[in-house]
Amino acid sequence: MKMATSVVPGHCAGINSASHVWMLKLGAVTLTLMIFLVDWLSSLDVAIAVLYVAVILISSDLFSYRGMQAVSGLCGLLILGAYLLSHEDTWLAPPFARCLVSLAAITITAILALKCKAARDALVEQVQLLRRSEALLAGAQRLSSTGSLGLKMPDGQVDLSEEARRIFEFEGRLQPTVQQLIARAHPDDTDDLKKLIQQVHAQHDCPQTEFRLLMPDGRCKNVRMLAQRMTDSSGGCEYLGALMDVTAAKNAEEALHQSQSQLAHITRVTVLGEMAASIAHEVNQPLAAVTTNAEAGLRWLDREEPNVAEVHGAVQRIMSEAHRASEVIRRIRALSCKTEPHYSPIDLQDVLQEALLLTRRETRRHKANIELKSQADGLWVQGDRIQLQQVIINLLLNALQALSSIHAKGRRLVIVLDTAPNNQVTLRVQDNGPGIPAEILPRLFEAFFTTKAEGMGMGLSICRSIIEAHGGRIWAESEPGRGASVCFSLAGGTPGSS
Ligand code: ADP
Repeated sequence: MKMATSVVPGHCAGINSASHVWMLKLGAVTLTLMIFLVDWLSSLDVAIAVLYVAVILISSDLFSYRGMQAVSGLCGLLILGAYLLSHEDTWLAPPFARCLVSLAAITITAILALKCKAARDALVEQVQLLRRSEALLAGAQRLSSTGSLGLKMPDGQVDLSEEARRIFEFEGRLQPTVQQLIARAHPDDTDDLKKLIQQVHAQHDCPQTEFRLLMPDGRCKNVRMLAQRMTDSSGGCEYLGALMDVTAAKNAEEALHQSQSQLAHITRVTVLGEMAASIAHEVNQPLAAVTTNAEAGLRWLDREEPNVAEVHGAVQRIMSEAHRASEVIRRIRALSCKTEPHYSPIDLQDVLQEALLLTRRETRRHKANIELKSQADGLWVQGDRIQLQQVIINLLLNALQALSSIHAKGRRLVIVLDTAPNNQVTLRVQDNGPGIPAEILPRLFEAFFTTKAEGMGMGLSICRSIIEAHGGRIWAESEPGRGASVCFSLAGGTPGSS
């Protein structure tokens, strides 16, 4: 950029307006005519025609390369013409020698001026190409919201491209200092950025990094930066970086995350709605037990000699049944609550047990035999308890629904919870239902894909987004006639107090 501004004005000096050019051209023609007339008509014993050198030099700023060649040829012809016209009848050695000297002078001048002109034309072309590629680069930077940044070491000179200045929102044309760049970083990210600069300087290692900028009006921007170390011929070091404004992408990611968790919440509530009968049963059972124990307790009290020990036992049973009912309600409330995911160490076995408890009646209703196979105690993962519970409930309900199409006697559901290589924890829900046809297997996790008359087709799609948000993987397997298995794997975590 600097190069363009320093070269171009020098080149264009004196020929930047059309009227100015025309005046110079007129002056050159007048000068040519005057030299010709003086050369032809005067009887001076000097090589007047040498002055054509001035005409050739002036024309180098006014004409193209070919135009200059024509002007040089014309000057030569005028020298010869003036000599022939003034000495048509006499042949004298001195005037002829002067004519030759003049011709030699303008030939040498023309060759040098043409060389200079060619070099200058090439330079102008290069400058134009440079300007064009600069304009293209600026356009591409603008389109991709990516600016470039140069940082010279050890003097810390910063060079920002136009787009990088726009991202940082620096006004004016002065390049900022490193301190000004750091001052634009979000206060929470400033220390990380300083550490990164020190690390880059000490280890010459330039990792990709993301940080936030805080604009003077309080707006926040997310920026991703990638840098590379370059060494110039003099041994100086410069870091060349690409700076990308990823605010829009981050906002979209955030919005997507929010709508996914809203969707997850809606499907959770829908599943709860589907399980309303089971839930009512789960709550009703302890309540019935409370009533029975309360009646028994009253009877023991109403006796002539109240049996305090029996009453004590009845009250204790009332307390434990009430506790059981409140536990069920607590779990249902947790599932129906609209909360942001909270990641913590959780025991997947615990989560599975809770999910089995909530689906207990569904299991009974579908007359399915559940076999639980767990190879290890305490299979810890880092995750959100409610969301993982939602995934397991979904897989269990799908498997139970699949089982309803086979004979009640042989309905079997195997749940395998195990560790896998690479510190993975896997959970497999396997049924001996009709299985999943090969042609629909790849579409299983698509949103709104369902084969059920009343299905929403969101269950497995939500399961996938939950598992992927946990950094895990979910997949389905089915061999014809051997039922289906839906499995997920998550990175094993360190135990915590779940
Ligand atoms: P929905 O249950 O509303 O249909 P899902 O996303 O939970 O939505 O499931 C999508 C489809 O996957 C189901 O309609 C069913 O065809 C198939 N599917 C899921 N689990 C099983 C299974 N265990 N056995 C057979 N098919 C299954």
